[in-house]
Amino acid sequence: MSFSRDLFEEGGKIAGQLHGYEIRPQQLQMVEAVEQAITGPRNIIVEAGTGVGKSLAYLVPFIDWAVREDRKVVISTYTKALQNQLFVKDLPFLTRVLDIGFRYAMCMGSENYACLRKARKNSIPDLFETKKRKKQAENIIRWLSETETGLVTDMDFVLEKSVWNRFSRESDLCRGRKCPHNEQCFYRKARLKQSSSHILITNHSLLFTDITSGGRVLPDFQGLVLDEAHTLEDVATRHFGRDAGNVRLQYLLDGVDSALGGKGIAEGCGSGLEEKIREAKEMVSELRAVSGKFFKRAEEVFGKRDQTARFDRGDFPHEDICGPLEELSSFLTGLSRDFADPDVCEVMKAYAERCGRFKESVEFVFGREDERYVYWADIRTRKTGMSYSFHAAPVDISGQMKTYLFERICPVVLTSATLFSSGGDKAGFGFIKDRLGLEDCMELHLDSPFDYANNVLTYLPRGIADPNRDFSVFRRQVRDDIIRIYDIMGGRIFALFTSYEMLNAVADDISGSREDINILRQGDLPRYVLLDVFKKRHNSILMGTMTFWQGVDVPGSSLECVIITKLPFSVPSDPINAARIESMRERGLNPFYGYQLPQAVIMFKQGFGRLIRSHSDRGVVAVLDPRIRTRRYGKEFISAIPKCQQTDTLQDIKTFFQSGDMPRGDTPQS
Ligand code: SF4
Repeated sequence: MSFSRDLFEEGGKIAGQLHGYEIRPQQLQMVEAVEQAITGPRNIIVEAGTGVGKSLAYLVPFIDWAVREDRKVVISTYTKALQNQLFVKDLPFLTRVLDIGFRYAMCMGSENYACLRKARKNSIPDLFETKKRKKQAENIIRWLSETETGLVTDMDFVLEKSVWNRFSRESDLCRGRKCPHNEQCFYRKARLKQSSSHILITNHSLLFTDITSGGRVLPDFQGLVLDEAHTLEDVATRHFGRDAGNVRLQYLLDGVDSALGGKGIAEGCGSGLEEKIREAKEMVSELRAVSGKFFKRAEEVFGKRDQTARFDRGDFPHEDICGPLEELSSFLTGLSRDFADPDVCEVMKAYAERCGRFKESVEFVFGREDERYVYWADIRTRKTGMSYSFHAAPVDISGQMKTYLFERICPVVLTSATLFSSGGDKAGFGFIKDRLGLEDCMELHLDSPFDYANNVLTYLPRGIADPNRDFSVFRRQVRDDIIRIYDIMGGRIFALFTSYEMLNAVADDISGSREDINILRQGDLPRYVLLDVFKKRHNSILMGTMTFWQGVDVPGSSLECVIITKLPFSVPSDPINAARIESMRERGLNPFYGYQLPQAVIMFKQGFGRLIRSHSDRGVVAVLDPRIRTRRYGKEFISAIPKCQQTDTLQDIKTFFQSGDMPRGDTPQS
């Protein structure tokens, strides 16, 4: 028997102290497997169906190891909801139960912390342009005298980002030990707590910032759990990529301008300094003019409309802005040496480096030298003007994942409720392992302990048009079926879409014809507010796109039906997808079966998983896309979800809810 397993067994501390705890063989299996991985050490990938209790199953063995061996373990998740669950519920519970003196801390990006030095400089609300912003600045100043954490997430008032930016920590402007506020610094205190902790909770984004910065963001750690690991490829792709755009450059130049315009910055310096400052300001205005023309060239290349499009080498002769950026960068470096005030010196140096880094990004993105990357532009009309942003992202992240992650840290646990997928010879964990560059690891697949066979009815209607053949008929039929389902259920419905366009068309149609149906539409309110309203108003249909397919937890009777309007294939014209599809074709592989289908199956499982969040939950999952029945690949979706009952008639939905039992005559799916 092991320390961890004992705790979960009958009569163990966890079993004894967790109200309503039931021993789950799947959880015990996961505890043992994680222990083995730690002892190896080896990496392990675990698909743990909903309700396995995976967070306790990895936390306990890792806490035990971290305390015994004086190690540090990072637990990284994709959603804030899971971070909160770990930090507010699971870890405090384990502190009470384990009684082995382990410590834990939350790691957030440093821009979430107030910087006392910046706050001191901005403590004059008159520096803010509008009354509203002045008020917000006053609120921050008052809050700073009370807060213990200095974290923006702990504020209870609304704040514009531009106001917070004047108070938040910027890593390259931080003076560290030389700062007069170092003793009271919120970020320093948080780092001290993190350094003395065994378990660190963070998000994938910060983890990848740490990995790509050579470990400058998080304390050194020896073990890693990647929860919600099905999201890793997307997050890593973003972090291994580069971008450059007019809005970012404008923000950078505004910063340089305001640093150069600081009151009295030339005081106590040599006589020629004011002239040099004027010269630097002229360079900034020149750069604004040159970059304005440079980015506007996007309209010549792509035309005047909002779009996402790939571009070719030579479309944007970037030397035009690289030269002035480099000149400004070296001028600011030289200028920084002339200031008497060390703070001003550091600020100038930091801006010089930012200009240098921006120039490197421009060279990388527009130079298009690295053929392993895909390059594209996003052109959008914003209230504040046009936004032209240009991106480069790796087509295949597996090599970087090996170099930056798997070759450096072991043990790593990758887990999620949706990692298993189809994919021909890559079926099972093959697809995700291949995408993430994960080799030689232990594997564990655990079914959910919930009773799907009795508690879930899948409704797969017949006669709906194929969306690829007749989209407008398909859309109309989807609308009609949503209304019919609503008429049976009276609400408590999630309708999941794959595009805003279809969501809006269906939502407009329904609200135009049925005023009694309460539609909560993604985009009308912030996501968490929509969910809150949905939980309280049981006569609603919540309509959402991809962000609602995952990371949303509505247990109990507030959610009794999930409608999957269309199978979640990613858009093939999306630049990253398109490049991945091309790359597979070039290698003689079938991109549909090797990439698009397994990816869609994982997302489908996520959508399906919204319904049953606890033992007592029951309800209907309606899949309105006929391809699940009519196409050969449809069975890959059906076999990916737990076994449950199936119907093609609305009457059975009625019976299901009226009787509280399954409709008679239905047969379990094979
Ligand atoms: S140490 Fe850095 S973050 Fe902290 S108050 Fe000083 S400058 Fe700001």
